[in-house]
Amino acid sequence: MPELPDVTVYIEALEARILGAGLEKIRLASPFLLRSVQLPLQEVEGKKVISLNRMGKRIVVGLENELFLVIHLMIAGRFAWKELVVNQPRPKVPGKKGLAAFDFTTGTLLLTEAGSKKRASLHLVLGEENLQLLNPGGLEVLDAAFADFRDTLLRENHTLKRALTDPILFSGIGNAYSDEILHRSRLSPIKLTHKMDEDEIQRLYRGTRETLDEWTGKLREEAGAGFPTKVTAFRPEMAVHGRYKEPCPECGTDVRRIVYASNETNYCPRPDVAWSRSCKVPHPGIYHANRSSSSSSVRGQSFFNRRERERSASKRPPVWQRGQ
Ligand SMILES: [Zn+2]
Repeated sequence: MPELPDVTVYIEALEARILGAGLEKIRLASPFLLRSVQLPLQEVEGKKVISLNRMGKRIVVGLENELFLVIHLMIAGRFAWKELVVNQPRPKVPGKKGLAAFDFTTGTLLLTEAGSKKRASLHLVLGEENLQLLNPGGLEVLDAAFADFRDTLLRENHTLKRALTDPILFSGIGNAYSDEILHRSRLSPIKLTHKMDEDEIQRLYRGTRETLDEWTGKLREEAGAGFPTKVTAFRPEMAVHGRYKEPCPECGTDVRRIVYASNETNYCPRPDVAWSRSCKVPHPGIYHANRSSSSSSVRGQSFFNRRERERSASKRPPVWQRGQ
């Protein structure tokens, strides 16, 4: 996070503000932000912005003389935009969270990062070849034909959660949207890619494209002509991500989680039920929509929930992290 939809909307907002503008100065507040050593940051001063692109989850600001600024927001990095006010000093980099300020002729782009772990990064590189060294090379699913998606997915035998979030395989998909993609595709996060049949791969291809496309549209609409300010991995309209113990919007079963280190996967434990329901086939899963019911299937479900909670509480890495 921010992932493809968020980064795309950030880039569109930046295009409207800095494309064609000059970059006067970069003010670094955190010495850890800049990860490249080949070029001094002063190289960018006075250079015009000639392109803005997404590379995986990174934002690439192309400048004159083949210079590229590559910004990776990681989990908690965010942008804020301050319009230039004539005869007013440039805005200060915010104290605790501030990483850098990019002073353009049109305004200042502030880069902040919440929390104590400073993981966001900035690289300054010269030339397209050096830029591509930073590219993890994942497939752009929105531009990809089904055959390419299929080949990429089956290149290695991983759990679906791991395959979708691997930047070497797929571009711009992280923890939040992978949960949403899998829910929409009616697939379990721990299903192994080499165990998938053709129909399931088709569903995943469609589900990935629809999820990324729809969310980009939603976020674009939310930002409107303004600069995006509510960039978060947790949105109330999400089906399962960040909704542990809440009912799945498709079948009513409690959303479960697999927690490992700082990662959390949220998923509906009965993707098949949701699939049957969407096909309008009567299925026992509909009982779960009624939480007050005392039918045996609800009792059975709470048993499974308890088991799941116990398993989550144990320190064992989840199946998808063990690579089984
Ligand atoms: Zn469900």
